[in-house]
Amino acid sequence: MAEYILDKQYFINVIKDLIPWAEERKDYFTELDSAIGDGDHGMNLSIGFREVAKHVDEWSVENVNTFYKNVGKALLDKVGGSAGPLYGSFFMKFGLPIKAKGPDEGATFDEFIQMMDKGITIIQKRGKSTIGEKTMNDTLMPALSTLKAANEAGDAPKAAMAKAVEAGKEGLESTRDMIATKGRAMRLGERAVGHLDPGAASTAEMLEIFYKNMPE
Ligand SMILES: [Mg+2]
Repeated sequence: MAEYILDKQYFINVIKDLIPWAEERKDYFTELDSAIGDGDHGMNLSIGFREVAKHVDEWSVENVNTFYKNVGKALLDKVGGSAGPLYGSFFMKFGLPIKAKGPDEGATFDEFIQMMDKGITIIQKRGKSTIGEKTMNDTLMPALSTLKAANEAGDAPKAAMAKAVEAGKEGLESTRDMIATKGRAMRLGERAVGHLDPGAASTAEMLEIFYKNMPE
């Protein structure tokens, strides 16, 4: 059986899908963030991905690492709040495991897992946050551990990613009953209970976009 490859176009397509996604979901993320934060999450993602949209074709000639680094830099430069820098850092680091590859090369599934690991780990570091604090980590950390476990258990790549997306959604749902111990929602104490974390919500949808673009 031929090795499973996520080609260069896959990585471009994910970004190209995130651009309209940030517009379509802007009001929803604003609504979530208005309930427990400062309401800027939808706008921040929209501003960031509008900037990405301006340059995505010119960046596409670079290898995957440089392409994603450019995406991350744009988000870091243009987006305020907490989520912008966290998303920015994710994309900045995401391609590092395959930084030595040529401009037309993609990644194996094992490499893809390393890339997810890099991106998700930097979010924990930058946010000085972990699971159970009502942040995007509640989506990302269970998704990552599920992805690794499913891969090790021998699941086919897309099936493994499907499980990761489901674990991320369960993690997202778990933020509803949490009080926040990190981020702006921390000040709300018990009043944050009953609301989903906006960063956990948007990252769950981002993972789904990574999943949907994967070949069978
Ligand atoms: Mg906010």
